[in-house]
Amino acid sequence: MSLIENLRALVGEGGVLDAAETAQRSAGVWRPDNLKAAALVRPRSTEEVSAVLRYCHANCLKVVTQGGLTGLVHGSDAAPDEVIVSLELMRTIELIDPLQRVAQVQAGVTLQALQEAADTHDLAFPLDLGARGTATIGGNAATNAGGNRVIRYGMTRDMVLGIEAVLADGTVISSLNQLIKNNAGYDLKHLFIGSEGTLGVITRLVLRLREKPTTTNMAFAAFESFARVPAFLKHMDRALGGTLSAFEVMWQPTYRLFTGGHVGGKQPVAGDYPMYALVESQGADRAMDTERFNKAMESAFEAGLLADAAIAQSDADCHEFWSIRDNVEAVMTRGLPIIFDVSLPIAKMEDYTARLGPALTEAIGTHELFIFGHLGDGNLHLIVPAPPAQYMAWRPKIEAVVYGGLEAFRGSVSAEHGIGLEKKPWLHISRTPEEIALMRTLKQALDPKGMLNAGKVV
Ligand code: ZN
Repeated sequence: MSLIENLRALVGEGGVLDAAETAQRSAGVWRPDNLKAAALVRPRSTEEVSAVLRYCHANCLKVVTQGGLTGLVHGSDAAPDEVIVSLELMRTIELIDPLQRVAQVQAGVTLQALQEAADTHDLAFPLDLGARGTATIGGNAATNAGGNRVIRYGMTRDMVLGIEAVLADGTVISSLNQLIKNNAGYDLKHLFIGSEGTLGVITRLVLRLREKPTTTNMAFAAFESFARVPAFLKHMDRALGGTLSAFEVMWQPTYRLFTGGHVGGKQPVAGDYPMYALVESQGADRAMDTERFNKAMESAFEAGLLADAAIAQSDADCHEFWSIRDNVEAVMTRGLPIIFDVSLPIAKMEDYTARLGPALTEAIGTHELFIFGHLGDGNLHLIVPAPPAQYMAWRPKIEAVVYGGLEAFRGSVSAEHGIGLEKKPWLHISRTPEEIALMRTLKQALDPKGMLNAGKVV
């Protein structure tokens, strides 16, 4: 029997696309090309994933697991001789328990579907990012996704209580723990969270849910200098008594770009300050929360931290502020974006970002640089739009400047997007040789044939 016939015997007729059918599909949300693989398998259950992996293991076939294909680092690229396992038919929300405040889902459930399901129980799954409608919970866990509310709720890792995963040889590790506190031995779920599909295929997850905040207060603030921004962050976090839920910054060129390309180009505050921040507080008491937020903003003014600020007066204003922050696609009007997600200590940010411009000018000449991101988490996004003809030539030169500047203090080459293929050559900047050796030991132990997402990460 052929490969396709064998796989169909495991997951049914409709569960397998052959190479030609696979090639009809896009390689990803951010990609112009189509998928190339020997087959694309769509199992419906953990048992079917296990059967497919057992078959591939016995026949030495390499396997790439795919979720919503919203990644940015070529972490789910497949080669023409590889088998893609797509979790797209595993979209069942199996349980929401409002008392235990957990959800149990299959890995192909989209982030937005889980958010909406939690919402119907007056609960929240607080992970949030722009690709929520397409990105899957399995993919979020496999890449340890971050997003806009990390400052309050942490990364995906902090929201996962239990995981079921299938190892390269088909062994099912069912660790669907619902307990917040469980120190009974090694916490095996962390082997799979953030491993980008290299150690196992995540099939089901238990997620921690939170009580849903019912009020939102927001402001857009402008600053005379970078130094005021972290001081303002500390001030607000202290004054808001635990309700700070987002703190996003933009350097002036980014603020101008994100507001200028916006409907009507309306700016909440004037566009001639060097730094901007969006601050959000979520709580449960409209009057008290608003009073506390406004007081915190007032005292920030009195302390001389702010040059100017616009305070949202309605939910529509809040929506408007977020739509400015989310207007990242505006960079597409400036060229082909080369995107970075670095992490570094807040104390190093001013110096690091000030050196980038001149270093890039030396490396590639005239360019644009857009800096923004989750300052409270130490995570900055940098985007350099390249003229299409220069993209391939620019990319390695820009990488050398951006990553080279992190080396002195072991900043991270990936705060939240992962390593994939794209950053593998730069992993050594963020990890010691001993750390990378231990990663390889784990890979060897769990996947000795090197079948799973071959060539990625380490
Ligand atoms: Zn981000």
